[in-house]
Amino acid sequence: MKVKVARTAGFCMGVRKALEAVLAATTEASATKETVYTYGPLIHNNQVLEVLEARGVRCLEELDGTDSGRIAIRAHGIPPQERRIIKEKGLKILDATCPRVAKVQGIIKKHALRGYEVVIVGDDNHAEVLGLKGFSNNRAHVVSKMEDVQTLPPMERVLVVAQTTQDEAIFNEIVEVLQKRFPEVIVRNTICDSTHNRQQEVRSLSKEVEAMVVVGGRHSANTRRLADIAMASGVPTFHVETADELDRKKLSAFRVVGVTAGASTPNWLISRVVRQLETIEPETAHPLPRILRRFFRFLMESNLYVAGGACCLGYATAVLEGVKPRGLAAAITFLYVFAMHVLNRYTDRAAHLNDPARAGFYERHLIPFAVAGIVSVLLAVGCAALMGLEVLFALVVMIALGLLYSIRIVPEIWLSAVRVSKLKDIPASKTVFVAGAWSAVIALLPKLYGGLHVRLSTICLLLVVFVLVFVRSAIFDLVDIQGDRFVGEETVPVVIGEKRTIKLLLHLILLMAILLTVVPLYGLFTFFSYLMLASCAYAIFCVYTYNRKLMRPDSLAFEALVESNFYFAGILALLYQVLAARL
Ligand code: SF4
Repeated sequence: MKVKVARTAGFCMGVRKALEAVLAATTEASATKETVYTYGPLIHNNQVLEVLEARGVRCLEELDGTDSGRIAIRAHGIPPQERRIIKEKGLKILDATCPRVAKVQGIIKKHALRGYEVVIVGDDNHAEVLGLKGFSNNRAHVVSKMEDVQTLPPMERVLVVAQTTQDEAIFNEIVEVLQKRFPEVIVRNTICDSTHNRQQEVRSLSKEVEAMVVVGGRHSANTRRLADIAMASGVPTFHVETADELDRKKLSAFRVVGVTAGASTPNWLISRVVRQLETIEPETAHPLPRILRRFFRFLMESNLYVAGGACCLGYATAVLEGVKPRGLAAAITFLYVFAMHVLNRYTDRAAHLNDPARAGFYERHLIPFAVAGIVSVLLAVGCAALMGLEVLFALVVMIALGLLYSIRIVPEIWLSAVRVSKLKDIPASKTVFVAGAWSAVIALLPKLYGGLHVRLSTICLLLVVFVLVFVRSAIFDLVDIQGDRFVGEETVPVVIGEKRTIKLLLHLILLMAILLTVVPLYGLFTFFSYLMLASCAYAIFCVYTYNRKLMRPDSLAFEALVESNFYFAGILALLYQVLAARL
């Protein structure tokens, strides 16, 4: 089935900021043993709340009984009276009120002080509306439909605002009726642009698809509104909280389905739904494309594709250095990369959030893949033994380091001083370790065959492989940034932020391009180095595609695009060798 995902699906700016603030507070609070509370559920999404609870965040419905710790005010904001109570209790406030909600609060406060009555178009019991009412000096009236306008008392000076997630069409209709009844009315359309864009996109997406799936909490007002808008557009609409709720039988009647999600729906829930939908074959589908799609998915999810890519990169580096590619070295590279990727799946805390499809794939095939991972390690060791003691020793060290990476090496009593118990806990270590391990197995290990043959060209080769693999891994870290933040995984993008990571990647690629241009001039690389510049251009294209969202970053197609740079390098190397043999 073809799935079209709305660009606006998922967290809005306010929700993202609130979550980031609370997650940062939990990291700080873990050192001081302070409890982080949210006043009311931080967002309307049960799955996110469960993850927050697992990180120690407690949700308070009442302020009674708590007089220490930090309390986060959610994106919806709270009335000033409640803020006063929190301050009087001595609790530390973490204000995560969305700036756009705060702006509406300010508008209401200003006009209420001037004697205006305030009409809020929204849901009377919604947390945001309760907060807004608190700024009105008891002059607020809430209307949710046109009929409510007639129940309003006679008023002279009236200000109309909207709940930030209000349906724009309904707001405009109500405003029209209000203007007829209260000619002096001042209208402020305070629907936030995030909501506006999301609703507009649902309207246009509904015209391009046969059915719509809206992902998000059933008690999330903005998600329900999206489902209402999609339904009003005339397409069959399915509102689901999780992928498990998808009705595969009903959905198999459609060939193209649109997906959108509320402002409080995390990426991983949207990804799960999208990946599930992609596995539904329309009743009318031809069997051949179905088989090919399944085969492609298997290659990607099983990590066979990435292991094959590592082999191709190994071949390209041999051509780059002008040495004969070795079959045993290629086998070690394939087996090592496959084994490490498979076995790390079982210790990756964020896998079920970042890549639910693959996590589910490994859960379903737990024993065969665990066995395949262990057998691959043993086979790699066997191949290394055939290449000599030096290679064997180096590979065993690399495997040991790989295993040590997730194991506690610092005793508990030192933890308060160093805050790091495993290599994995070192900020940004994952990307560096992966790139380091690939570089060592691809560029260094073959040089140990029959003794130590490390030359200056080997160092340059190590740098080239390191940069290429670092860029690949960091792009995937960028895709996974939301899930990594939730589980406290400090990858490069989590530590330095998305924009800086992109800049860093572009600088690294530039550095690699300079290296590839200069090194052949000193006879350290063959002239294939200039063809490898195309691989730099490919890496830039991947970063650009991610940055401009030209493809859905969490899709298998994007993953294949990024991984294929190594195949591309391998094809270039083959081309170079064929051309060199003919000349
Ligand atoms: Fe803020 Fe708009 Fe998100 Fe509401 S929907 S939290 S106003 S960005």
